[in-house]
Amino acid sequence: MTSSSSIYTQGSSPKRVLFAASEALPLIKTGGLADVAGSLPPALSALDLDVRLVLPAYPEAVEHAIPLKTVTTLRISGVSEPVRILEQEQIDGNLHVYLIDAPSMFGRPGNPYTDASGRPWGDNAQRFTLFCRTIVCIALDQAGLGWHPDVVHCNDWQTGLVPALLAQEWDRPATIFTIHNLSYQGTFDLSTFVQLQLPDQLWSPEGVEFHNQLSFIKGGLVFADWLSTVSPTYAEEIRTAEFGYGLEGLLDHRSDRLTGVLNGIDYQIWNPSTDSNITQNYDATSFDLKQVNKLALQQELGLNQDQEALLFGNIGRMVEQKGIDMIIEILPQIMQNEKVQIVILGSGEEQLEQALLKAAEDHPGQAVVKIGYDEELAHRIEAGCDCFLMPSRFEPCGLNQLFSLRYGTVPIVNRTGGLADTVTDLNPSSMLDESATGFVFDNPDANSLLDTVNRAIEFYQRPGMWWEKLATRGMLQDFSWDSSASHYLDIYRMAVDNPAKNPVATT
Ligand code: ADP
Repeated sequence: MTSSSSIYTQGSSPKRVLFAASEALPLIKTGGLADVAGSLPPALSALDLDVRLVLPAYPEAVEHAIPLKTVTTLRISGVSEPVRILEQEQIDGNLHVYLIDAPSMFGRPGNPYTDASGRPWGDNAQRFTLFCRTIVCIALDQAGLGWHPDVVHCNDWQTGLVPALLAQEWDRPATIFTIHNLSYQGTFDLSTFVQLQLPDQLWSPEGVEFHNQLSFIKGGLVFADWLSTVSPTYAEEIRTAEFGYGLEGLLDHRSDRLTGVLNGIDYQIWNPSTDSNITQNYDATSFDLKQVNKLALQQELGLNQDQEALLFGNIGRMVEQKGIDMIIEILPQIMQNEKVQIVILGSGEEQLEQALLKAAEDHPGQAVVKIGYDEELAHRIEAGCDCFLMPSRFEPCGLNQLFSLRYGTVPIVNRTGGLADTVTDLNPSSMLDESATGFVFDNPDANSLLDTVNRAIEFYQRPGMWWEKLATRGMLQDFSWDSSASHYLDIYRMAVDNPAKNPVATT
């Protein structure tokens, strides 16, 4: 990479970025990664970078990307069928979008990672190895696109082998690996490693081996020139045993190349003054109008029509991480107050879904649970609720608290990861210096959540403008992508200027 005949930019500002992710809005979304991969590339291209986004050609992504053209066809080792690179014909500014089309791997409907019963697809290792190998081909300008990036920005385990494979090349672009959630690692057994015909030298504890398993995420964590994660607090937390899943030692070792950059949110999509999904648009100067959305939401969901009730909301994956069990535990107690209501939207573990549905059944008119994925309803919940619950046990960044702040829906959060970085607890000192934006608690357990919910109820019922002041302060915070995108540009420069040593180099 340091050769004078390198085709890649060195010592000056990177100009071309290949941004690789397994999902991106508006093409396909299962979680926050899609929000980021949908917003960060356009924000980077607004900084005058030539950015190309690459993701698998899932049927849903193809449908949303049409019209597409085939720009090249490749042979990739390990797959018998030819792999096509499709490009979205409609180019948004500088941003090109490529879809990797290999029907036997990606041409199946439904969730990109799991089958209809929620189990990971049995061939995920093969699918995402193919994805990584194709990205490497593009990165090395071997795909016939006549283009090579200065930087390849990889995201989460599905792209983890890219830095590992590129590190084996003598002339290569710089690599960045962003951790959106360390708990998803892409681990497979040794026979899968052998079957994938990955370079032998990668099978080592210094490489992608992790407790005798192939770990895709280690490919990124070990080999990328620079690592980032989606909030400064999470960047610290993952270096500890509590949040590191056994990878804390490695992350600590690489901490001089690990940066936390807070995610932004897309203010074109999440803006209460222009949002076409909600009944009544409003902003911080017309906060009163938010009530219209509350009444409309109560009506839509069959809740009691009561403007004075304090309506709590929660949206997201129903998994242990999100602390849904804590909400289930406190629900009977908070429902004793008939001036309190709750709406929950999401899907996930069957047992949590069932427990929530049962709890809602016990409190008709006061509690509603919607199982499923509904982007438009998510907007109406953000606009219609007064308060948003996020008792996550860990939260790399979290987006819903940012949407909530924007919509004047006061967040209640556990002090972890991005939640700690974005919500300021209401207490005497933050009231005095007018910095409070929500309610924060310190222990992820039902008692702490209940205490904090009660704190919010008490504050909501105070006469005067207290609540409005708290909520509108949140609305005025700036979580746009602009500053985060320039932060990433700084990281790209550091990665280009400081290539990492390959720990498993054979020569
Ligand atoms: P994670 O990526 O861990 O799921 P984030 O808070 O980072 O959590 O992002 C989740 C994103 O997915 C947010 O945009 C959230 O609104 C959205 N989301 C999750 N579940 C649902 C759902 N059931 N309906 C609509 N949107 C959802």
